[in-house]
Amino acid sequence: MPTLVMKFGGTSVATLDRIRRAAKRVGREVANGYDVIVIVSAMAGKTNELVGWVEETSPIFDAREYDAVVSSGEQVTAGLMALTLQEMDIPARSWAGWQVPLKTNSAHSQARIEEIPPDNINAKFAEGMRVAVVAGFQGISPEGRITTLGRGGSDTTAVAFAAAFGAERCDIYTDVDGVYTTDPRITSKARKLDRIAFEEMLELASLGAKVLQTRSVELAMRYKVKLRVLSSFDDNDETAGTLVCDEEDIVESNVVAGVAFSRDEAKMTLLSVADRPGIAAAIFGPLAEAGVNVDMIVQNISEDGRTDMTWSLPVNQIARAEKAMAAAKSSGEVNFAELVTDDGVAKVSVVGIGMRSHAGVASQMFKALRDEGINIKVITTSEIKISVLIDRKYMELAVQALHDTFGLDKPA
Ligand code: ADP
Ligand code: ASP
Ligand code: MG
Repeated sequence: MPTLVMKFGGTSVATLDRIRRAAKRVGREVANGYDVIVIVSAMAGKTNELVGWVEETSPIFDAREYDAVVSSGEQVTAGLMALTLQEMDIPARSWAGWQVPLKTNSAHSQARIEEIPPDNINAKFAEGMRVAVVAGFQGISPEGRITTLGRGGSDTTAVAFAAAFGAERCDIYTDVDGVYTTDPRITSKARKLDRIAFEEMLELASLGAKVLQTRSVELAMRYKVKLRVLSSFDDNDETAGTLVCDEEDIVESNVVAGVAFSRDEAKMTLLSVADRPGIAAAIFGPLAEAGVNVDMIVQNISEDGRTDMTWSLPVNQIARAEKAMAAAKSSGEVNFAELVTDDGVAKVSVVGIGMRSHAGVASQMFKALRDEGINIKVITTSEIKISVLIDRKYMELAVQALHDTFGLDKPA
């Protein structure tokens, strides 16, 4: 029988009632003749609560125990979903990640999937089971410990299962009815896209649009998984939602496909560091070792052999970064006058494959921000995106202004 993967996010399984509603949807696909693999998230808010408990118990925690705690939310919904399906006379069974087993590397809290042997689940399908309910977001390390895949990781579980089982489609059911030109919570002018190219979705996700985890888009692109995002609340048909697909399968699109943002950013500047070969390595080596995810980097022109180095990072990694820089200074590796931290910035980005062939997107973006009186602190670009760092208090305004200036409320 053909296989379908259906993933339900936190809000779609937030209550027993919603689990029942999701189960009905699964039942419809079973009736359509599919064997279904259902991937579930924890109930809405549960993972945040579990993370909070870990942080309160142990501020600099052992990531293996973090994984043991935060993976538990998905196990609850998997069991409840299987029970709900059984109550509807649909033969269903639940699996925790380790039981599948979904094998990952040992990078606790950020693990990467290495292999999903399909044999255990296929054996059950062969016996007449129609739905395998799998706890998302989790796996097992080579050492035999539970791992998790990073926040939002159930999306990646879903796509990985679709690839491993050759599923006809991977449907991501969530609380919006598709991928929008920007987060519909920021502007009512946001428009749902019928299709979006893998490359654009990849950039939007990695620049902060949390509707899909970045890694899930990477996997879908690599394994050619037919990936669809749709609402678990609306009644929808075959054409509902947004299809994430190859660029060639999109007939017309705007130069800019969407606007993404990342709210909790910080900026650090080392004032007056020696401008010598190896200085960047001396700064960013220790930061990497301390687990700091440096994003944008700018080095100023130097004067009298001294320069300033600026970088951005997630706001919750400031303490770690400051500690690493203090250590680098006292060991004599890096000599600087002062470390200045700005913990009130946000990153706003525009993304579109049309930028490859259209000049002037950057200047239009900068003019729109100027017209709102928004100062740009750092700029980075790539072939299909432009990102700016600005004061966090202007983030919503910037997103709305860019959405307007690129006419994203109207189709191409
Ligand atoms: P789930 O719990 O189903 O995984 P998430 O909260 O992880 O859901 O992702 C869905 C949310 O992503 C939406 O509620 C929306 O606020 C947000 N989002 C951000 N950017 C976008 C976008 N471009 N299109 C759609 N949703 C977006
Ligand atoms: N429950 C996890 C989280 O909130 C994984 C997911 O929902 O995708 O990050
Ligand atoms: Mg999510």
